[in-house]
Amino acid sequence: EATNLSKEFPVHGRGSRGTTVKAVQNANVTLHKGSIVALVGESGSGKTTVARMLALAYPQTAGTIRLNGAEVSHARNAERSYFRQVQLIFQDPFASLNPLHKVRYTLGRALRIHQRTLRGKELEEQTLELLRKVNLTPVEQFIDKFPHELSGGQRQRIVIARALAVRPSVLLGDEPISMLDVSIRLDILNLLAKLRDEEGLALLYITHDIASARYLCDTIQVMYAGQMVEGGPRDSVIQSPKHPYTKLLLDSSPDPGRSLRSGDTGLFDVADDLGEPPNLVDPPSGCQFHPRCPFAMDECRQTFPERTEFPDGQWAHCWLHQKDRGHVLEGKP
Ligand code: SF4
Repeated sequence: EATNLSKEFPVHGRGSRGTTVKAVQNANVTLHKGSIVALVGESGSGKTTVARMLALAYPQTAGTIRLNGAEVSHARNAERSYFRQVQLIFQDPFASLNPLHKVRYTLGRALRIHQRTLRGKELEEQTLELLRKVNLTPVEQFIDKFPHELSGGQRQRIVIARALAVRPSVLLGDEPISMLDVSIRLDILNLLAKLRDEEGLALLYITHDIASARYLCDTIQVMYAGQMVEGGPRDSVIQSPKHPYTKLLLDSSPDPGRSLRSGDTGLFDVADDLGEPPNLVDPPSGCQFHPRCPFAMDECRQTFPERTEFPDGQWAHCWLHQKDRGHVLEGKP
């Protein structure tokens, strides 16, 4: 459970002393056992920075991270157990594996990090079991392969198997399908759903593709320019978006079934519709979406809106709802 997480990166270079990039501001996210939360937004919206803070790869500038109620941020003694329980899956399966190591070594090493006495037949059996869990069968065909002998999808399955080797309770998937062929993306999403169900994992699925979030996730949270602007149960967010940016993402996204099964890339390009995302060194005042928002009002340029809660757990930060004008999102007069 991350509360009010913020991250600023210093800008280096002449004349930039004291300048920071406000990559994430006051982000909240809670992951529950057996459920998948999607973090959706454009490139540069802060999604990956949130995942890296949750993995303790970046120290946060502000905010707290708790695992099963215990605060872990800055708690050195807690880190060893935390690193086992929270695993990160990267976007690029080609760069995630050491090209000199066979699958047997890659998985065996991860298994032995936390089971130091594991050897011989038992080590082999646990390695084969990991391959079965990620549907790489017949397992004997894969255990002695090098990464270059595997396809992108097979490599990503090995990366997922390596993460599972330490029996984590949380997986953080940072765009885990975006570098894979369209034809195998659906297989990896189905594998993640299977792991949620069979292993009871809590998953954070980071994506710029709201169609895949719709397919996989139970909850969707939308990020824009480092801020969480909307969230809630998947069907509510998809069927009745409360923030104009979410609506734009949905309008820009192809049909989810079509994008995952045909030759469509499944990508959208919001910038084509409404210009470039803001500069996070000097972000716009008030609601950061206001330069691109067709509904922007005076209040939007001055103050970031409070969170508005809706009956089914959906929420949004948008002045339209504070001013009782949410109906304009549905195109009503
Ligand atoms: Fe648009 Fe204003 Fe809502 Fe921001 S707060 S999304 S600018 S209407």
